[in-house]
Amino acid sequence: MNINDAKLETKCLHAGYMPSKGEPCALPIYQSTTFKYDTTDEMGQLFDLKAEGYFYTRLQNPTNDAVAAKIASLEGGVAALLTSSGQAANFYAVFNICEAGDHVVAASTIYGGTFNLLAVTLQKLGIECTFVDTDSSPEEIAAAFRPNTKVLFAETIANPALVVLDIEKYAKVAHEHGVPLIVDNTFATPVNCRPFEWGADIVTHSTTKYMDGHAIQVGGAIVDSGNFDWDAYGHKYHGLTEPDESYHGIIYTKQFGKKAYITKATSQLMRDLGSIPSPMNCFLLNIGLETLPLRVERHCSNAQKTAEFLASHPKVSRVIYPGLPGDRYHELAKKYLPNGSCGVISFELKGGRDAAVRFMDSLDMAKIATHVAASKTMVLHPASHTHRQMNDEQLVEAGVSPGMIRLSVGIEHIDDILADLSKALENA
Ligand SMILES: *Cc1c(COP(=O)(O)O)cnc(C)c1O
Repeated sequence: MNINDAKLETKCLHAGYMPSKGEPCALPIYQSTTFKYDTTDEMGQLFDLKAEGYFYTRLQNPTNDAVAAKIASLEGGVAALLTSSGQAANFYAVFNICEAGDHVVAASTIYGGTFNLLAVTLQKLGIECTFVDTDSSPEEIAAAFRPNTKVLFAETIANPALVVLDIEKYAKVAHEHGVPLIVDNTFATPVNCRPFEWGADIVTHSTTKYMDGHAIQVGGAIVDSGNFDWDAYGHKYHGLTEPDESYHGIIYTKQFGKKAYITKATSQLMRDLGSIPSPMNCFLLNIGLETLPLRVERHCSNAQKTAEFLASHPKVSRVIYPGLPGDRYHELAKKYLPNGSCGVISFELKGGRDAAVRFMDSLDMAKIATHVAASKTMVLHPASHTHRQMNDEQLVEAGVSPGMIRLSVGIEHIDDILADLSKALENA
């Protein structure tokens, strides 16, 4: 059986690690910094990237690689790299093909951490970013491009705005300008959407969220579709298509073909910046991945029922969830996320900030926590937490009203979730 031809549920259990006779059924944790060789020359070949093999865990580790291969298989990509966080994944994904003097175009509704990375931190490295309204027309997105633009970046389902991306539209604009589309697929997960099937070139993840699912490790992943033709644009992606002097003059596209992008990220960025996940964390992530399809299905059905319950509640003024027929992104969700979107809902209370605080403080089971996409139901009040430094006017400008609550619906029984919310809403 070729595991890459199997269904997604099967890949979640078996891809990346298929033990042979007498080997452990569970993925072993290779908790070792280094690996042993018999001759000086054998190890020298590894340093020259002339032979494949493990030598130092900052570059490669068998546990980490097995999980990376599983995620690559789930997304339908050719290779993946795991990182110590989702932030590191997005940084490496962009920095692998951008340098000082380059430019990025990104959708504006992306995760706050990624927004800061692109708007502030990459600017300090000489990489500029222009943000476009996620719902922009192709012409409006195209207008943000410059001759030095190297990447178009967006999220399948924006965290926490729950804006659904028109992936085909973004891919078309990117390719018309000869740049790859990078899509952060954290909220949808490959269970609900595989952006490569719609034209995206590179996918990133915060594996901290649904992939792990148990809120026990922080991690990230970059997956390459292998579809972008770096050689087609002359000097533009010279880091991939011209000799790397820091690696004995290797030319990544020549030596590694479709795996050029991930090999460069590993052998250059991991070597020099070092944001690796620990083998133990990769082991934990792998356990999460085994049940991902079951959990995502339950998250989505629970969130759908919860969104419908909230939408009909007299104390609730607004519910944002792509699964609701009246939602602004319902049509895009039907196209790109036909089996469900995610478990995260935003809603607003008529009583504003004070009602939101009373509601939060009256919850019994749902946990107040800075996290989303875990198996346990969690809530956050942006005005008191993530956006605390803003006054009410600034909040409205940022699209976050003072009475807004971000609810990450878990996989508990729906009756218990609704009972907890009902009781807390009585006090709101
Ligand atoms: C959480 C998140 C990140 C950042 O990931 P960390 O693992 O927290 O570093 C990036 N993108 C999205 C969409 C996220 O939800």
